[in-house]
Amino acid sequence: AKQYEMEKKQAQLDPLTQLYNKRMVNLVLNETFQQQNSVLAKIAVGFIDIDKFKMINDVCGHQLGDEALIIVSEIMVNLTRPGDFIGRYGGEEFVFLLRNTDEAGAFGYAERIRKEIEKKGKQLREKFHRQELTVSIGLASYHHKFESYSDIIKVADEAMYHAKRKGRNQVVMMNNSTVHQEESSKKLSVNPSKPRLFNEHEAT
Ligand code: GH3
Ligand code: MG
Ligand code: MG
Repeated sequence: AKQYEMEKKQAQLDPLTQLYNKRMVNLVLNETFQQQNSVLAKIAVGFIDIDKFKMINDVCGHQLGDEALIIVSEIMVNLTRPGDFIGRYGGEEFVFLLRNTDEAGAFGYAERIRKEIEKKGKQLREKFHRQELTVSIGLASYHHKFESYSDIIKVADEAMYHAKRKGRNQVVMMNNSTVHQEESSKKLSVNPSKPRLFNEHEAT
């Protein structure tokens, strides 16, 4: 029985980082979406992508690339509260789910991760052949128009691409009000010209 439990656990994990794998991320998000509105109103999803990771692999080799992935996942684990959830979503992509948070809390968490990775990258600068180690993070909070968990991931992913386009190594949060349902197509769409930069918002 113990052997079985261990095998079951391993099937949920990414072998390299020991974070939950993509299948588990989708499962947990899907389960979360079954919860009542009062719970959903307080969730946020983040999409993290390592900047110029192909370059790190090319310059430093795949082995060091893998080490960078482990370093990033350890930082995430250290900064994550019990009840929150993180997983590896793809090659150099991670997803987190925060519960009981508001936009300010989610933004603060994402910024802590971003800064900590940047700091670690500076400490390990020589090891990584002077390549920077930074991440771009996209954030989405819940919107009642989301029909399934894949909608919130999609918005977080869009926000992440904005962070890339704005120069990488930054956090972008999508403004709820830019998410709307197009009545004709019934397709979820995001106004890409108006990502919400939380710090700008705070300044007004
Ligand atoms: P961007 O800043 O736009 O995200 O650029 P990027 O180079 O990070 O993006 P791109 O998607 O072009 O490259 C991702 C690279 O991640 C491609 C591949 O070499 C690397 N990668 C994916 N999975 C792994 C892995 O498990 N280990 C290692 N070492 N590298 C991986
Ligand atoms: Mg990527
Ligand atoms: Mg990348």
